[in-house]
Amino acid sequence: MEAIVVGAGFGGLTAAVGLFQRGWDVTVVERATELRPVGSGLAVAPNGLRALDTLGVGDAVRKLAAFQGDATVTRPDGRVIARTASKAIVRRFGDAVIPATRSSVMDVLTALVPADVFRLGVAAQGVEAGSASQRPCLLTDSGRLEADMIVAADGVNSVLRRALFPEHPGAVYSGITAWRLLVPTPAGDFLPGEVWGGGRVFGITPLADGRTYAYGADHAEPGITYPDEKAELLRRFGDWHFPIPALISGADPETVLHNDIYEIAEALPAYHRGSVAILGDAAHAMTPHLGQGANQAMEDGVTLAALVGPAKDSEEIASALARYTALRALRGADMVRRSHRMGALTQSTSRSKTALRNLGMSLVGRLVPDLALRAMEPVVAWRPPEGP
Ligand SMILES: Cc1cc2nc3c(=O)[nH]c(=O)nc-3n(C[C@H](O)[C@H](O)[C@H](O)COP(=O)(O)OP(=O)(O)OC[C@H]3O[C@@H](n4cnc5c(N)ncnc54)[C@H](O)[C@@H]3O)c2cc1C
Repeated sequence: MEAIVVGAGFGGLTAAVGLFQRGWDVTVVERATELRPVGSGLAVAPNGLRALDTLGVGDAVRKLAAFQGDATVTRPDGRVIARTASKAIVRRFGDAVIPATRSSVMDVLTALVPADVFRLGVAAQGVEAGSASQRPCLLTDSGRLEADMIVAADGVNSVLRRALFPEHPGAVYSGITAWRLLVPTPAGDFLPGEVWGGGRVFGITPLADGRTYAYGADHAEPGITYPDEKAELLRRFGDWHFPIPALISGADPETVLHNDIYEIAEALPAYHRGSVAILGDAAHAMTPHLGQGANQAMEDGVTLAALVGPAKDSEEIASALARYTALRALRGADMVRRSHRMGALTQSTSRSKTALRNLGMSLVGRLVPDLALRAMEPVVAWRPPEGP
């Protein structure tokens, strides 16, 4: 059986690897001319690790972990709002959240397929979804490509989503803009975690390679860029507690990433059309506040491969894709909503709501420490589907 996967992000790669491991002939069509993810970090959550376990590489990613200690949520002046104990997460979910560079996780995945599955520098332009009697067809800037199944994993601005669901409004601006940095870890003691204040959030995640992945997010009008993004970050976060000013000052201005955050606020009616499946950000782009976008993309990818992998003809593909939609579409939409709600909580600009939030979180942390873990349950306790 032949599959074409469009997009070599975390979603496309996990689907491609899963199908390849089940004997499919896989081609990955990628617009970029090289396989190099943006230079930033990624938190791989226990659900993402379980997805990677199904491909045999969960442990390779677990080994990328830098710290197993506690993390904090603090105010900009350093006062602690809440703490999370990594050990408690491991006890409850079997794994910690693994911070890593995107490229290190990507390298683990790309090593699982031969280099010649990738067709780099080829942009998808549209798709014909196919039917029981006709294979789906991908339209690209290098011609038409046919397969038994096509996987649309082409990210938040998906061309294929527009072709499959022309009536869908697409991704909408969340109101939040975000900066990401990978910087040498500054000397001095600090805990990883997030800092919340005045509608802004700053995240600090030390990595195993001596660098720290940091991110800042704030409210902004869409489409604004700054001639000096590093200076803009210092303007917004430069008076926050250590190590934030040191992290921003240590950044190479050329490598500061700045993106407006878009989300699929209106859920797609299905995660397939004909013999084309859609996954990852293309299907359910979400704000980064839950740290789940890539984890959900990997859940999608391995679920799709597990369900469709055994199919032997177009009829079996059709019933596997119906099951894929049934398993994934509600979960994807739920994660978009949860992420949005989390963003509204962490980036609230209302002083009274913020004060209530901080008080509530510190009380919950002291009186019902289990509650925060229980809230994570529906997100990270996911298990891959059993075979057909
Ligand atoms: C600030 C920030 C922080 C984040 N932090 C986390 C985190 O800690 N944990 C987490 O799980 N998620 C996080 N995310 C979300 C995560 O980055 C995305 O959800 C994830 O990368 C989506 O993967 P994907 O494979 O669906 O899409 P993408 O990674 O966007 O991959 C899509 C691929 O398709 C290719 N492509 C696009 N169009 C075409 C075309 N027409 N033809 C061919 N190829 C095409 C692109 O070049 C790209 O390689 C964060 C996001 C942001 C913005």
